Amino acid sequence: MNNDLTIARAAHLKPIADIAHEMGIGPDLLETYGNSVAKIKLEAIHALSDRPKAKYVVVSAITPTPLGEGKTTTTVGLGQAMHQVGKRATIAIRQPSMGPTFGIKGGAAGGGYSQVVPMESLNLHLTGDMHAVTSAHNLLSAMLDNHLFRGNELNIDTHSITWRRVLDVDDRALRNIVVGLGARNDGIPRQTGFDITAASEIMGVLALSTSLQDLRTRLGNIVVGYTNNNEPVTAEQLRAAGAMTVMMRDAIKPNLLQTLENTPVLVHAGPFGNIAHGNSSIVADLIGIHTGDYLITEAGFGADMGAERFFNIKCRTSGLVPDAAVVVATVRALKVHSGAHRVVAGKPLPSAILQENPDEVYAGGANLRKQIENIKLHGVSPVVAINSFPGDFASEHDVIREIAESMGARVAICTNFSNGGKGAIELAEMVAEAANEPNDFHLLYPDNASLREKIETIAVKVYGAEGVDYLPAANRQIEVYEQNGFGSLPVIIAKTHLSISSDPSLKGAPTGWRMPVREARASVGAGFVYLICGDISTMPGLSTHPAAESIDIDESGEIVGLS
Ligand code: ADP
Ligand code: MG
Repeated sequence: MNNDLTIARAAHLKPIADIAHEMGIGPDLLETYGNSVAKIKLEAIHALSDRPKAKYVVVSAITPTPLGEGKTTTTVGLGQAMHQVGKRATIAIRQPSMGPTFGIKGGAAGGGYSQVVPMESLNLHLTGDMHAVTSAHNLLSAMLDNHLFRGNELNIDTHSITWRRVLDVDDRALRNIVVGLGARNDGIPRQTGFDITAASEIMGVLALSTSLQDLRTRLGNIVVGYTNNNEPVTAEQLRAAGAMTVMMRDAIKPNLLQTLENTPVLVHAGPFGNIAHGNSSIVADLIGIHTGDYLITEAGFGADMGAERFFNIKCRTSGLVPDAAVVVATVRALKVHSGAHRVVAGKPLPSAILQENPDEVYAGGANLRKQIENIKLHGVSPVVAINSFPGDFASEHDVIREIAESMGARVAICTNFSNGGKGAIELAEMVAEAANEPNDFHLLYPDNASLREKIETIAVKVYGAEGVDYLPAANRQIEVYEQNGFGSLPVIIAKTHLSISSDPSLKGAPTGWRMPVREARASVGAGFVYLICGDISTMPGLSTHPAAESIDIDESGEIVGLS
């Protein structure tokens, strides 16, 4: 089989205006960037509102290995397959960060014959939204440091400042820095650091805003630190929010691309999957929900993380109601959950994992069972998508099918990586059936539950913990947040994505463990409180041989090495 870049380059792209036309979006609502990419104006939300509502489907997964188990590939394949069976489906995904593109994982456009194109645009700068988020974030940093330099009228405690700087490059040397070195005129020295742009609260704001005015309000609500009297200081108080909104004026419009089979793809926002909610934007979905029979969106990491936050944060904020959820499962990840193998990013798969071994798949099945249960906890119908890899054995797929059916979930084998949309027709049919079932969607906790109640509900019901232990610092912060009125926000548990528990070494569906909460932080603008329950890096570093080493331009000016 050809590699991703070769397949993507051979694609026959339709003019993006034709793709938009098929979604019912006319040229008046489109801003084109060349022939193959466009932004959709937010007026489309209102203009399309009297059109029929699509079925809303979220694509999630079992707990992945560091390689990823194919959520994007399956999301793209499902969009393509719906087209194959005569349905109109729009997919909605996050915009990849350039950090991993040049770091370890390679691109994030799907894979094989289920990709988003043009993949070079998707994986590189696209329409500049990352740049806008980076600039708006750093403007606030600059205005904050300027405020300190100009006399600190707001009486900000410089040690309480949580607002850092961001960059869309993996650069470990910037994790901890000192700003303001030099002469008196060069600023007030203090320690701070850089995060990757995907970890910016503004990325969360972009993803969760429902309109331009709402974006303005959320940017104003960002808390940068506290005064010496422990009062929160906001971007509004620093008078930065207006200018930040102006910088984000184009970034808030979703981007339209297409699959290899010319079906529509909305690409918008890319918040981190651990300290943020890991879902693409609400505005893209508010448009996409009126553009066909199905709107299919991907939620980051396993169902315990991305899907839980899709339900309890994204749907809570947008008011949209999901009709079905796909859980992507692979033979290799279930074998890892059996405890028999370890998979390391950037290294070849151990050869033992490629041997036929249905018993190992069965032994790792506890993870699949728990993730199906996590979907059902929210009253949504689960469909298991077996993402088939070339070396899989039928006996191993049979085990996954058996587990899924024993949990009352529909199940389909997907070969769309090798065969395109035709390889996911069974999945499309199962999703259509699941989405037609009576809907019992509900949130896991009400807004007015306390922060501790929310944390414990997720830890116990979704992660299978016995209980939660708070370190003193976390207790203090939670108290301050409740006092400041942030207690009504939903919560995000920032933990490893490699286990349902907060310990990456625990595989399957761990029980009998307690979740330690080390620290609490508030993304008041984005609209959530997050809890640090593990070693979370918000600025990745590069490996010994980063992907960047193999990326180049050839003699004819074409990109090589992007995957
Ligand atoms: P996720 O979105 O869950 O992180 P991706 O869809 O990005 O996963 O897939 C992760 C990697 O695995 C990509 O490089 C993709 O090309 C590859 N991949 C996905 N599905 C298959 C498959 N069925 N066969 C071979 N490679 C696959
Ligand atoms: Mg993905």
